[in-house]
Amino acid sequence: MQTDVLIIGAGLTGIVAADEIIRNSTLKVVQLSNGSGASPFIHGFCIPVGEADSEELFYEDSMRSGYYQSDPKLVRQLCMNSKELLDYFKELGLELDRNEEGVNLLHALGSTVPRIAGIQNSTGPAMMKRLQERLKKSKRYTKISGQRALELIRESGRVIGAKCYDTKEDVFYSIYAKAVILATGGFGRIFPESTNSQDIGGDGMAMAYLAGATLTDMEFIQFEPSAAVWPPQVAGKGIVTTMFYDGAVLRGKDGNRFMLDYSEAGECVPKDVQSKCIYEEMQKNGTTPHGGVWFDATKVPEEKWQGVYNPYLKRYLACGIDLRKEPVEIAPAAHTTCGGVKIDENCHTGIPGLIVCGEAAGGLHGANRLGGNAGLETMVFGRIAGKAAISEVDGMLILPEKTECIINMLPDVDISAFRAKLEKTIRNSLNVIRNKESLEHGIHTVTSMIKKLGKYQNCYEKQRLYNDLLTAYITMVSALERSSSVGCHCREDAIEEMGTYRVEIKKNGGCMDVHRKPI
Ligand SMILES: Cc1cc2nc3c(=O)[nH]c(=O)nc-3n(C[C@H](O)[C@H](O)[C@H](O)COP(=O)(O)OP(=O)(O)OC[C@H]3O[C@@H](n4cnc5c(N)ncnc54)[C@H](O)[C@@H]3O)c2cc1C
Repeated sequence: MQTDVLIIGAGLTGIVAADEIIRNSTLKVVQLSNGSGASPFIHGFCIPVGEADSEELFYEDSMRSGYYQSDPKLVRQLCMNSKELLDYFKELGLELDRNEEGVNLLHALGSTVPRIAGIQNSTGPAMMKRLQERLKKSKRYTKISGQRALELIRESGRVIGAKCYDTKEDVFYSIYAKAVILATGGFGRIFPESTNSQDIGGDGMAMAYLAGATLTDMEFIQFEPSAAVWPPQVAGKGIVTTMFYDGAVLRGKDGNRFMLDYSEAGECVPKDVQSKCIYEEMQKNGTTPHGGVWFDATKVPEEKWQGVYNPYLKRYLACGIDLRKEPVEIAPAAHTTCGGVKIDENCHTGIPGLIVCGEAAGGLHGANRLGGNAGLETMVFGRIAGKAAISEVDGMLILPEKTECIINMLPDVDISAFRAKLEKTIRNSLNVIRNKESLEHGIHTVTSMIKKLGKYQNCYEKQRLYNDLLTAYITMVSALERSSSVGCHCREDAIEEMGTYRVEIKKNGGCMDVHRKPI
């Protein structure tokens, strides 16, 4: 199969990019999807339209939230292109929620002022639906669902397509393209405790790394402090942290409001700080019956339950729990991966033909993502990636016409045993608080697992596992290299002051180059 632009991933970033290309060029787009990723969970996103707000204040909040480890050019691009989304929404016929004062804005942890706007608590689904309706009308747009890209194809240093697996037909095949947009989202799902959906994983990072792209900031995994651990129907689902500004508090296993022991601001601290405090509280004083702390939202006013927090109320009521009357058990879970493929402010990777955007990219969020910035990132950088693809397409490029289909082989190893071991290793090595010993142990374990896995090509389950193992390995190497604590990377054995470098990892022949790039 051949196309002009291949977009791997159909989360909001990939869809926004596709729309940009279809509307502004005559190019053909093939979009691969294997689910919708994290985007359907986007409630709201940052937009600096409040009276006391500005792009500059937003920039400062984003940099501070990322502990000044972010790439300033990416942050500037995000902030300066934020307000123009008001026109984008208008053009899409979508209305942001409003109150008497204008756009209804919520206050996210880490922001100086209320800045989170949204569409009835489901901005992601509303946007995806509207954009997909528009895309479907174009004959130049093809979306193929049930497809998994596993490897990028390179020729003379240029990325010219991807080797894919068709989950319906059980075969491998190749798609060739003049430009490839990698929009595979984050890799938070490789963590056993995660708020992410099953369709995302390590493929994007492994594909980009093996194709020669640089990975950056991989150690910065943002944990969602308040992910449900009980009951099973809601386990892994986060409760929005804006509720802490509306009266919700955290309590230890015996009911004490432990956050006051850690900070005068109580629960109203950035997510990384809160995750660390919860983790420490559980280690020091034990946990609730199912391994967490109590999230007590009984003081949240009734009008909020009937309004913006209604989905959470309903979610728990369906399990027989009334959040207005009783606390629930929560614990940190891997949420957003701040690191990813290194890009410039136009989503270029330095590899001809390869453009990366959205959560698959690294450098924007630094050591800790500001709440609401990922939703904004999908739209701002999805559009930029679309534009980049238009200018990247090389009209002279001659692509192979046909590809053969290769039948998927059955795995010759016990995949579930491998998966269980990987989960345990990640839990021990890459948790909220890390140390050298556990990271070295993790690296050693994953190395021997990769060796034992053996040849993985043309076996879907093995290749996916390999990609996850490689991503876990790179993340551990990155976390080991950063021997200091900063933001959501916390080393209990920190031996240095906070660094002014970022850890970058790149394939160099058969070796892995790990280096510290000064910021
Ligand atoms: C529970 C939850 C709630 C959140 N709430 C908010 C919020 O309110 N505000 C906010 O700013 N941020 C929020 N975030 C973060 C935000 O949702 C994500 O950062 C954002 O949606 C990422 O968008 P994306 O398009 O880059 O990736 P995703 O939406 O994750 O999409 C990735 C796409 O790539 C596909 N894919 C992955 N691997 C492959 C492969 N190998 N081959 C083919 N396709 C592949 C997936 O199936 C999917 O279609 C939340 C995250 C979670 C998990």
